[in-house]
Amino acid sequence: MHPFEYVRAKSVDEAVAALAKHGERARPFAGGTDALVMARAGRWELDALVDIKHIPETNILELGSSEFRHGAAVPCYKVYESPEISAAFPGLVDSASIIGGIQIQSRAGLGGNLCNASPSGDGICALIVHNTTCVIAGPNGKREVASEDFCTGPGRSVIGNGEMLVELKIPTPKKGFGAAYQRFTPRNEMDIAVAGVASSVQLDGNTIVSARVALAAVGPTPILSTAGDSLAGKEATADNISAAAQIASSEATPISDMRGTAEQRTHLVGVLARRTLERAVERARENN
Ligand SMILES: Cc1cc2nc3c(=O)[nH]c(=O)nc-3n(C[C@H](O)[C@H](O)[C@H](O)COP(=O)(O)OP(=O)(O)OC[C@H]3O[C@@H](n4cnc5c(N)ncnc54)[C@H](O)[C@@H]3O)c2cc1C
Repeated sequence: MHPFEYVRAKSVDEAVAALAKHGERARPFAGGTDALVMARAGRWELDALVDIKHIPETNILELGSSEFRHGAAVPCYKVYESPEISAAFPGLVDSASIIGGIQIQSRAGLGGNLCNASPSGDGICALIVHNTTCVIAGPNGKREVASEDFCTGPGRSVIGNGEMLVELKIPTPKKGFGAAYQRFTPRNEMDIAVAGVASSVQLDGNTIVSARVALAAVGPTPILSTAGDSLAGKEATADNISAAAQIASSEATPISDMRGTAEQRTHLVGVLARRTLERAVERARENN
């Protein structure tokens, strides 16, 4: 392995300065559960790895009445071990609690999962259906990007040289909101999604005011499906949910590989979209 510098940044400015200094030969990391695998495998030409775990802003975990601020280095277990956060965000808990096993969840977080930009990342679709905004810092200051626009290809994102994700801003759910994420894997744990779907709904009585459906592992990036839009203004009935699930299935653009065929994945998206929409509706009714 080419020797590289380890930079333990204490502030966003320090991290950005180190990243900008080395350009494409520097990478930020949080839990390191993807980054260190890539570095060890020699997949990156590295002069510096910038550790962002010791920066106050990237560790923020603050549930306010209108917004939940989730720092980019917060590990998964902090989401599901907080009674307040797990009660407000069961859809995020669905994701945070299946990323690897307990050891991985003690280091890895939703921020690293998003930045890794894997189409099969289990956290990304849950962030998308929660209308998450990504706060990015770089040499020219801060900018914000919607989570559905963050990933640009397999392993690629809007993060440029010298930039880093600082935090995720997630609207605090109102009464009548519910969300869920499910994936299909041949094994129950420690496996990569063959397909995954996250759904969210905002209910008013039995009417769906708005909904979001996002698809994992069935395209070069996670996909925000129009299935959610198709439900706006409709009753939360089995027929309407099934019709939306069919739309989600038709918008999947999977490939066939060793983990599953394109046909299987397309079918799975329909099943998972229906199940996660049903679960999101159930949770929305409980949250009334
Ligand atoms: C045994 C094992 C099992 C796993 N199981 C799963 C699974 O079930 N589901 C799943 O989705 N993933 C899984 N993973 C992959 C990985 O654990 C997750 O993607 C995890 O969420 C990554 O988080 P992290 O904090 O460790 O990211 P890191 O490894 O620190 O970083 C990941 C990538 O994002 C970049 N990055 C990190 N932080 C920032 C930042 N703030 N700004 C800009 N770029 C940044 C890094 O440069 C790197 O490219 C598994 C990994 C292992 C080793």
